[in-house]
Amino acid sequence: MIELLDSPAEARAWCALRRERGERIGFVPTMGALHVGHLSLVERAVAENDAVCVSVFVNPLQFDDPRDLERYPRDLEGDARLLEGAGAAMVFTGTLAQFFPGELAADGSLAPERLVDPGPAAAGLEGAFRTGHFEGVATIVARLFDLVEPARVYFGRKDYQQALVVDDLARRRGGPRVVVCDIVREPTGLACSSRNALLSEAGRARAACLSRSLEAVDAAWREGARDAEELAALLREGLARDGVELDYAELRDPLAWSAEAPTGLLERAVALVAARVDGVRLIDNLELGAGGVARA
Ligand code: AMP
Repeated sequence: MIELLDSPAEARAWCALRRERGERIGFVPTMGALHVGHLSLVERAVAENDAVCVSVFVNPLQFDDPRDLERYPRDLEGDARLLEGAGAAMVFTGTLAQFFPGELAADGSLAPERLVDPGPAAAGLEGAFRTGHFEGVATIVARLFDLVEPARVYFGRKDYQQALVVDDLARRRGGPRVVVCDIVREPTGLACSSRNALLSEAGRARAACLSRSLEAVDAAWREGARDAEELAALLREGLARDGVELDYAELRDPLAWSAEAPTGLLERAVALVAARVDGVRLIDNLELGAGGVARA
């Protein structure tokens, strides 16, 4: 039976007991409303560790838009069932107030000096479009790492920039090891996301243009295109055709993150997209020349 713990003290004790027994804990942080993408992380963690803990915590600190936080899908009962099926041993839920007892202001915010610096990978793109997002992610992830003390943590490549931020954070802290897992997609190519549940049927079909546009750029890359501006223009062209509301569609060097888009000829590239469909903000990305979009 999977253990459902809603207090940090209980979760800490559960993890400490496992570690005392010499078990390596694999940890998968999530915001719940779980789908097959999340479960792929859990299954990998189960295969590589002795016990797997999953956190289901909709972190208010990482939402810059109160409406997005309010309508974020939640289904703890369904999540627990799926996690038990995937072999997780413990689910931890909690509240921000439990993480920071007596420290939250009346509006639920945390004093800026209590926020964790997300480091250089937070510059640009998601960091630029969602003010305070990565400070919120780094602050909660650091708390969760302190609580669980895992050997390995599992993050999805779908949140590309987040994986860079978390990897940097873990290195600065001296652990845990960050394992970054491939993007799981629906048959149309649409990256699985909890927010997909908020899309209309027509919106879902339109949202597939994100991965289609990434694929078009990948095809150009494989045919030898290397000019940063040309590739970015190709990416935007595909998205403009399908009329989604674009936040950004840009390229980056995956080994040298930069706030601004690189120019000139590229040796390596990841294409990253954020767009709104039906008012729902979706993100996707693809490392060019690395095998393309793998569908379910
Ligand atoms: P979230 O609940 O959105 O915070 O996601 C929790 C973790 O699952 C993050 O590390 C995400 O990158 C990862 N994840 C979300 N969607 C996918 C997906 N389609 N494929 C792989 N990993 C994913």
